[in-house]
Amino acid sequence: MSTKMKAAVLHAPRDVRVDDVDVPSISDPNDVLIKVEMSAICGTDLHPYEGRIEIEGGVVLGHEFLGTVVDAGEAVGLVEPGDRAVASCVVNCGHCWTCRRGDPGRCVGSRIFGLGIALGDLAGAQAEYVVVPNADLTLRKLPEEIRSSDEDLLFVGDIMTTGYEAVRRAIQPGDVVAIVGAGPVGLCAAMSAIALGASATIVVDKIASRLKEAERLGAIPINADEADPVDVVLELTGWRGANVVIDAVGHESALVSACNLLAAGGTLSVPGVYMEESVNIPFGDLWLKGVKIVTGVANIVNYMDEVIQLTEAGKLSPAGIISHRMGLSEAPEAYRMFEAHEATKIVLDPSR
Ligand SMILES: [Zn+2]
Ligand SMILES: [Zn+2]
Repeated sequence: MSTKMKAAVLHAPRDVRVDDVDVPSISDPNDVLIKVEMSAICGTDLHPYEGRIEIEGGVVLGHEFLGTVVDAGEAVGLVEPGDRAVASCVVNCGHCWTCRRGDPGRCVGSRIFGLGIALGDLAGAQAEYVVVPNADLTLRKLPEEIRSSDEDLLFVGDIMTTGYEAVRRAIQPGDVVAIVGAGPVGLCAAMSAIALGASATIVVDKIASRLKEAERLGAIPINADEADPVDVVLELTGWRGANVVIDAVGHESALVSACNLLAAGGTLSVPGVYMEESVNIPFGDLWLKGVKIVTGVANIVNYMDEVIQLTEAGKLSPAGIISHRMGLSEAPEAYRMFEAHEATKIVLDPSR
């Protein structure tokens, strides 16, 4: 094995280069070294790319990946060299108070691949190799004979499971589910709602191509530029509103729309990312409706097994979200396209 590898390295905002860097090696008995076969660009990668989160120069980007195990520390029991695996984008400690309570999204020791020192100093996976810490908790071994596809299973560690959890912890069988935002997480939430027994799944956005994808998945699309989503949802639900509303955007205007779509006694689920100290929402209305709110960083490791099983059963197939497949060597162009909304989802192949 060569001691150098190619990696997508962020030098400064909007300055991604494909550099030769040292191949990482395992240093802890719980580590695993993965040879990366596929690595996606995620909306979260745009935070450092656009300079909205400041990270030190020289960070290898990427946290949504799958590949083959090439080395495993002596304490690792789940996988051995030759096994194929997918990783959670967040590495949890597994033994803090919130992890022990089954709520690893709140883990105080959480680290994320490829987002710099402030988020745990883990090199990212838009590279030929990546080290995965705490592998028994972070990784899931893939079946030897995959019935779905690698491209479907790639998203288990991030967007698919984030969308799934947003629905899973809010839905009851027969619920009407409305999703505000048809980006990758919104589309994954739509697939999940259908798989988990929604009686109707409604997706609100303003971009026609995204709404078309939502419709292809079996959801009812609403273009917010053409119709008032509140009117359409009320009409579809006998003037009740949706039992579950997902804000898959992470912006005040989306959150307000989500509140307005909710039925009395419904659940507002917010996987969208909020860094603001406060947002202006119609709280009196939520109080009157008696709604429940679920939110926060997704508990990825809790739901990866369910998502793999449903994917293998053909009930979740997020590969349809992929709009571009490019070589790792094209990473600078891929980031430019992704930022310019010329691509919904880009998957990079480190072998080219
Ligand atoms: Zn991500
Ligand atoms: Zn923890």
